[in-house]
Amino acid sequence: MKKLALHWKIIIGMVLGILFGFAMNSIGDSGRTFVSNWIAPFGTIFINLLKLIAVPLILASLIKGISDLKDISKIKVMGIRTISMYIGTTLIAIIIGLSIVNLVKPGTGMSPETIESIKTTFECNADVMIGKAKVTQDAGPLQPLIDIFPSNIFNSFSDADGKPSMLQIIFFALFVGICLLLVPVKKAKPLVDFFDSLNEVVMKMVDLIMLFAPYAVFALMANVIIAFDDTAILVKLLSYAGCVVLGLALMIGFYLILIKVYTKKSPIWFLKQISPAQLLAFSTSSSAATLPVTMERVEEHLGVDKEVSGFVLPVGATVNMDGTSLYQGIAAVFIMQVIWPEGLTFTNQIVIIATALLASIGSAAVPSAGMVMLVIVLESIGFPAELLPIGLALIFAVDRPLDMCRTVINVTGDATVSMMVAKSLDKLHDSKPKEWDDNCEAVK
Ligand code: ASP
Repeated sequence: MKKLALHWKIIIGMVLGILFGFAMNSIGDSGRTFVSNWIAPFGTIFINLLKLIAVPLILASLIKGISDLKDISKIKVMGIRTISMYIGTTLIAIIIGLSIVNLVKPGTGMSPETIESIKTTFECNADVMIGKAKVTQDAGPLQPLIDIFPSNIFNSFSDADGKPSMLQIIFFALFVGICLLLVPVKKAKPLVDFFDSLNEVVMKMVDLIMLFAPYAVFALMANVIIAFDDTAILVKLLSYAGCVVLGLALMIGFYLILIKVYTKKSPIWFLKQISPAQLLAFSTSSSAATLPVTMERVEEHLGVDKEVSGFVLPVGATVNMDGTSLYQGIAAVFIMQVIWPEGLTFTNQIVIIATALLASIGSAAVPSAGMVMLVIVLESIGFPAELLPIGLALIFAVDRPLDMCRTVINVTGDATVSMMVAKSLDKLHDSKPKEWDDNCEAVK
């Protein structure tokens, strides 16, 4: 009997997880406690495993990829193409978002009672977001630049909160890769071979971890569902959430056009190959946690050469967030429509385009990061400080489901650009290597 493809297994896990979450929610507190004590930990273990391999994967693939380029000028060409495509797609995402929110106007006509009930339910959560954004803002203007250059690479693997600093690791890997090109081939070979072998081992780890994905997705979805016990508020925010989802859907359409027109590949085939990464992005809300799977799909299934994916994807997971910037544009204007309509000027919308672009570059690839950076977008247009907690409280209830959706777009955007850059450098292969089957298991 033909084995069920991985994406179907993940979808089944997801649907069962949602149903199970609703069932436990209907039981009440004891059901929810059961999910958080006995089910959710399996989702956490899965995310931990993916994060565990993310750092060695970035190091190995980037160092190997750069050293394979053999020529420093190629790095420049690839770097410029990657960054310009990332900026281009992000600008398009923000413009799509702003057009939808200005046309649909989901924030007009919300009753004062609704605003009040949302405010009292979510205001303290909003304060946490504002506090996190303040830490980013208090730093000097060049702090983000300074933060790219590590003084101790071991500290970059784990900061004070235990999180790796992706940009520092990317910088270090690029630096090592470039220097490997500058030393004699004989001297470079042992290190290149080491990273090549590390890359293979990490990719095998992705395969093994992915066998657990359908069960983990079940646990992650059940845990998400038990958090939504106030569905009445969700319904009130439906038209705002609908605008974000519509914008994100249009972005998928835009990527598929790029795939068809630029790489001449079938959009359906692209979606089928990348779907396990999209489903994981949806379940984990983290492009960083999804990165190992995105790399495996793009290299082994979409035919992008490792030299390209090893550079484009880690950089993309860190700086390219089309879904996040689209959401930030819509959320900022929606909040203004509800509580600060006098701020809705053309100039402010232009400022939103610029700051949402920068904010999505600065957003960490983890759950809710986009909402933290939204504070900075709002403050850049002079949004009144006293209204900020109310503004964020307004969108808090639907933030998690929207985060899940925008992370799918973030990951799809990275995969699309990696295919385009590969095509432009003649590094897009026609077929996937034979030794992998559709379940991402080795058949050898
Ligand atoms: N969760 C998103 C990501 O990891 C970032 C965000 O929009 O909050 O890509």
